[in-house]
Amino acid sequence: MNVLVVNAGSSSLKYQLFDTNTMKVNAKGLCERIGLDGGRIEHKQADGTKTSREINMPNHAVATKVLVDTLTDPEIGCIKSMDEIEAVGHRVVHGGSYFSESVVVTPDVISKLEKCMDLAPLHTGPHLMGIQGCTEVMPNVPQVLVFDTAFHQTMPKESYFYPLSYDMYENYGIRRYGAHGTSHRYVAGEMIKILGKAEGTKIVTCHLGNGSSISAVKDGKVLDTSMGFTPLAGVEMGTRCGDIDPAIVPFIMEKTGMTPAQMNEYMNKKCGFLGVSGVSSDARDIEKGISEGNERCKLAFDILVYQIRKYIGAYAAAMNGLDAIVFTAGLGENSTTLREAVCSNMDFYGIELDKAVNDKAKVQSNIIKLSTDSSKVKVYLIPTNEELVIASDTERLVKAL
Ligand code: ADP
Repeated sequence: MNVLVVNAGSSSLKYQLFDTNTMKVNAKGLCERIGLDGGRIEHKQADGTKTSREINMPNHAVATKVLVDTLTDPEIGCIKSMDEIEAVGHRVVHGGSYFSESVVVTPDVISKLEKCMDLAPLHTGPHLMGIQGCTEVMPNVPQVLVFDTAFHQTMPKESYFYPLSYDMYENYGIRRYGAHGTSHRYVAGEMIKILGKAEGTKIVTCHLGNGSSISAVKDGKVLDTSMGFTPLAGVEMGTRCGDIDPAIVPFIMEKTGMTPAQMNEYMNKKCGFLGVSGVSSDARDIEKGISEGNERCKLAFDILVYQIRKYIGAYAAAMNGLDAIVFTAGLGENSTTLREAVCSNMDFYGIELDKAVNDKAKVQSNIIKLSTDSSKVKVYLIPTNEELVIASDTERLVKAL
């Protein structure tokens, strides 16, 4: 089945065309500056041919039309006509408490998604525009939504409930939702294949990128996750502060005169690696700074390492054991230094990293066992693939229609 995977942002639309029989990506690309001047589409075929075109796209429907025209272009495309697109799968950032699994788009699904607007205002509107764009351009093609929050919906109440007054939960839906669920689901699923079965397994999945989250996955279900009501919570990130004492928020606002919106922007964009180091939000720059003796880069890095170790310890306690740790995403897949720092001096848990293997494991697309054969806890690098999950969920649900 040819599945078009779509990730619609406020002014951009990323896409990949999957053939689900082979799970190969036949084409992928990006429409940028939707609704702005200077619109542009960049398109890449499986054979490596790249094209780009300047074209103004006033809205997501036009962007969808532009990408479909590109896919079907006899010179640069890979399909003959739009009819070859059999289904569309959308990445959706927030499904609130409404969606615990992927769903086929219906009017009821759309009205529930509209209710999630408050929870992820920057993402939900663009998602709705992306869905609408596909409906306008391909009215007969079924669409599926795959939610970043869905995998985390198995969390028990004691792990998702914040000890605020109960009415905050009832009136505003304030609770832990988590994020990166599709990635955690994919890598936990791959780890479970290696372990042989889901039942009885205790896995900590570490998705470490610009945004980072860590999940405790017991019996194949999420028991807890580090991101919270929003993706600002949990460990230190590229520009996000992660968990801090909540009293710091009004304190800083009073001292600096920042408004709630400015404070939110500050915590999301000016903290983390960037704020602590004063150098960069990018882990590669932080590692370079450390090698040059920059103390603040070292502090930014050490904070993250320490926090990840605390999460592993906490989740091992919550699950009463630990079978495997999985590293994924930009930092998890590539930063040999970070993985080594996280896994060293963990003999209490029986974690033993194979240093030679770990040192070589980066910039590749294979699953790699990083722990020694004698390590009680298995440590794996599993490259994440959220688009593949979206394509296969879409195929499964559309086939069942
Ligand atoms: P996003 O959350 O935006 O999807 P990614 O998963 O792409 O982010 O991760 C980006 C992070 O991965 C950046 O901090 C980047 O520095 C880091 N990263 C990528 N490659 C390497 C590398 N070779 N060594 C260390 N860090 C890396």
